[in-house]
Amino acid sequence: MSDKPEKFIDENGIRLDGRRVDEIRPMTVEMGVLSRADGSCYLEWGNNKVLAAVYGPRELHPRRLQRPGEALVRYRYNMAAFSVEDRIRPGPSRRSTEISKVSGEAFEPVVMKQFYPSAVIDVFAEVLQADAGTRTAAINAATLALVDAGIPMKGLVAACAVGKVDGQLVIDLNKPEDNYGDADLPIAMTEDGEITLLQMDGNLTVEEINKGVEMVKAGCEQIFAIQKAALLEKFGTAEEDEVLEDAGLQAEISSEENVSEAVEEVEELVEEAAAEETEVPEDEEVEEAETMFEEDVAEFEDDEEENGEELEVVVTEVSEEEITSESEDIESNEEEGDKYEQ
Ligand code: ADP
Repeated sequence: MSDKPEKFIDENGIRLDGRRVDEIRPMTVEMGVLSRADGSCYLEWGNNKVLAAVYGPRELHPRRLQRPGEALVRYRYNMAAFSVEDRIRPGPSRRSTEISKVSGEAFEPVVMKQFYPSAVIDVFAEVLQADAGTRTAAINAATLALVDAGIPMKGLVAACAVGKVDGQLVIDLNKPEDNYGDADLPIAMTEDGEITLLQMDGNLTVEEINKGVEMVKAGCEQIFAIQKAALLEKFGTAEEDEVLEDAGLQAEISSEENVSEAVEEVEELVEEAAAEETEVPEDEEVEEAETMFEEDVAEFEDDEEENGEELEVVVTEVSEEEITSESEDIESNEEEGDKYEQ
């Protein structure tokens, strides 16, 4: 392990890897990389390399684990033995079990599990190369893998950590900042800003936590833009693709400039799409529609009056003889039926 650096942030506010305190590491994503998974995403974030794969929804075995009203979402975070400098012992550990649990819960408000009763949705997050921030990187990749698998979701989830070095708050900690910093606070949130994962290592004051959360929100906005650009690239129309290309967003969305452009472009695209869907009709059209509606209502009321008279219940008396002959008919039909079955 490298030694503790004397200073993490220089007099110009620049960190050891050249970033400002509120800047995330460059992130690139590629969706649909695994042909046998229902959805997948490969994500690089700084020196982190993570692969997320989603299998399902599929029937859950053993059946006793099934939930009658919804699907079970299982999240497994795993660090490959070769992902760190010193080889990690393969298999689950206390750390990976804990990360799997909290990361799975980070998707709780967005995944619409009610559509798949008794089913299971398996999310595998494999860390191929670790360099601090792997649980957040895995969540960012898993979100896209879930969308790639076609799982209905209310929105995306993004994750980023905030920490403290040299007495200053910094987002998306790199390895030395994570190892020697005063705090590490990984956070995941929905697009509405609802926090779905929050863990803390180290010490921060309440004010620092509040400020840190705001910094993470800004970081997550950049991640949402990257995720949306990746989604548009894979599922968008040709025109949307052109917009992305023009903004230089297709291959790599890493520099701060590109990210803010991405946010604007994606927002514009969404607004355009929404405007098309809810085109406001001209005044004349509204009047015409109102008249048609009134006419329909009047017609319906007339019909109702007429039908009211017609629908009077008519009760006629049936003689005992008629009943006996009917039941004889039924019996002889049943006998005929039995013959056919034999
Ligand atoms: P995160 O990766 O989410 O930041 P931690 O804060 O627990 O999670 O770990 C920080 C970094 O420390 C990891 O990204 C990885 O580079 C390294 N690390 C974690 N666990 C181990 C381990 N068992 N052996 C070697 N390095 C590890």
